This record gives sequence, structure tokens and C-alpha cells, in this order.
Amino acid sequence: MNHNIEVRARKALDQMKPYSPGKPVWEVQQEHGLERVIKLASNENPLGPSPLALEAMREALSELHRYPDAQALRLKLTIAIHYDLVPEQVIVTNGGDELITLISEAFLDAEDEIVVPSPTFSEYAFGAQLLDARTVTVPLKSDFQYDVQSILAAVTDRTKIIYLCSPNNPTGTFLAEKDLTFILDSLPKRVLVVVDAAYSHFVSDESYSDGVSLVRKGYPLLVLNTFSKIYGLAGIRAGYGIAPESIIQSILKVKEPFNVNALAQAAAAAAIGDTDHVKRSQQLVWEEREYLYQALNELGCGYTESMSNFVLVELGERAERIYEQLMARGIIVRHGKMWNLPLHVRISIGTRAENESLLAALKELWKQEL
Ligand SMILES: *Cc1c(COP(=O)(O)O)cnc(C)c1O
Repeated sequence: MNHNIEVRARKALDQMKPYSPGKPVWEVQQEHGLERVIKLASNENPLGPSPLALEAMREALSELHRYPDAQALRLKLTIAIHYDLVPEQVIVTNGGDELITLISEAFLDAEDEIVVPSPTFSEYAFGAQLLDARTVTVPLKSDFQYDVQSILAAVTDRTKIIYLCSPNNPTGTFLAEKDLTFILDSLPKRVLVVVDAAYSHFVSDESYSDGVSLVRKGYPLLVLNTFSKIYGLAGIRAGYGIAPESIIQSILKVKEPFNVNALAQAAAAAAIGDTDHVKRSQQLVWEEREYLYQALNELGCGYTESMSNFVLVELGERAERIYEQLMARGIIVRHGKMWNLPLHVRISIGTRAENESLLAALKELWKQEL
């Protein structure tokens, strides 16, 4: 049958491009006929999930005929205790991504504006587009550091939200606590500041703040975080937000009742308490970050010092070809073109063995005339 479909999607959807994720391992295995593939493209934890989370999930299996707790009370309480807050200051979501959509739905009317640094995580602009709101981008400085004055200068009467990804994806640069405080103190109180702290656990610089202490002080600030990175639970989709109670209440109004599944709730609560897994994961990133820097220095490759579990590396004109050649050898990294950084690749930090494989391949390709 050949029906003529006349159903039309919303106009806002005409401009929307689907999110382009890092290539999955199986796809590269298939395309290149490879057995061993190393994925350094999505900033996942190379040590795997927290073992305590896996155990908690096994225990939760027999109750899967029940709906999950719509309020995710135990998980919320665990997060609240971890940060010295009350559960009313916490919301849990189906990954940090869902939280960004919920924030957009809760606070953006058509024609409203959000301010985002550039380049950064694409989901903020996606959320705005979905609601017919406008995205005002503020370029990072030439060394990819935040430009505080330009951020403040971009605020208008229509500004509803400022997103500050710190450490920033894909650059690894961050906002110092004094700069974050300065921004909050300079803004009209009607502007919601969202600090995306998905990579907060990998920061080793003392001047950093994930912003939670400023939520406690009552600023109109929401701190977003995720179980996908340090906790190694990207596959199960759990994230959370921390904000003053009234802001959380607004977001709860647009949340689906059962947005976080029962296994995710059990796993996430256990992972927060798995300090051994967290410490090992941090230690690995801190050591391997230095190891990568040293090797990149020896190669004469430019890079941006990162407070995260990835490094933005400048490969120049050959970046895309090197990215493709790495892929053909079973090493997946991210080419920078999606952030308008065609001369760069973003490399997630792996285990020592994975990083050695990456560096060996990169060394070889770097010397070739591609
Ligand atoms: C990974 C990531 C998130 C959250 O990802 P989820 O898997 O949806 O929890 C949020 N912000 C940034 C910048 C990220 O890189």
C-alpha cells in the first residue's frame, strides 16, 4: 500500500539534527573486520562499572515486575547525604541528558534565550531548539578558557538559562570557583545558571568548584551530574541535578513518573558508596592524563590541558585522515568537526594498555604523509 502521509512534524524539528554519538565498538568491528577495538570516543570509564553497582542490580532483578519508585527516594537520599543536602534539593533523571531536556521544558518559552559557551556539549542547544528558544553562543578564548566578561555581555532581557559546562566537553577547560561566583553575583536573579559537572570527579585543580556549595548558599543555580562517567554506568542511564528546592519543584512538574528504572536506581545508589571504585577511577585518569601529555609532547602534538577524562588534541590539517586511519586500526576517537574544530580530535583516557596502543598508532600515522 502506498499512502500519502500528510502528517507534518512541528516546524522546530526542521532545523534539528540527530545527536551523533561516538561509534559503537560492534560497528567498527563489522566495518573494518576487526576483533580488537579500543573505544576512546565517549569518555566512558575504562575500568568498567562499579562492582557494588553490579551486585545491587543482581539483587534488584527479582523485583522487576514492580514499577520503580517514582520518587527514587533511596537514591535521592543517598545523593543528598553524599553532598550534605536535603532530598528536596535533588532530582534524579534518565541520564544527565534527560535533565537538560526537562530543564528546557520547565523554563523555556518560545523566543527565550539560553547562553552557552562554544564549543561545548550539544544537548543544551538541542533542548532550546525543541522549545523554540534561541541559543546565544559565546566563544571560549583562543586557548579554550572561559571568557567571563563575554558571557555576562551576552545576557539580555530574554536570557533564561546560562549553561556552564565545567570541566567543558570537549576542551577539558574549567571555571574557577571565583569566576563562577563572580558570574552568579553579576547576573539578574531571574537567570538560572546550570553548571554541568559531568566531569567534576576528574578535576585535580584546587581552584575548581562544581557549584554545590553555591547551591547551599541559595544562588539560582542547578548543578548537573551523571552516573555515566566516573561511576561507569553509561549503559543504564542515570543522572541527577542539585538546586534550590523551588527550582527542583518546577522541574518535577514536567518529569515522567517512572523516568529512572529500578535497576538504575539500585545501581546508582550503590555506586555512590563505592569509594574504592571512584578512587581507582580518578587515580587512573590522573596518572594516564600525565602519561598522554608526555607522549604528545614528545611527538610535538599540541593539546589543551584537561581537568577531565579526555584530552583535546590538535592534529592540524590531517586530523580527519588520522581519525579515519585510527578507526581502521580499531581505535575509535572523536573527530572535532561536530564542534567546528576540524583540526582536532578528542581522545578519552583509557587504561595504560589502551593508551599505549593509541599512542603507538598515532606515532606511526603522525610520521606518515597522509
Ligand atoms: C556525558 C555528559 C553528560 C551526561 O550524560 P548522560 O549519559 O546522559 O548522563 C552531561 N553533560 C556532559 C557535558 C557530558 O559529557
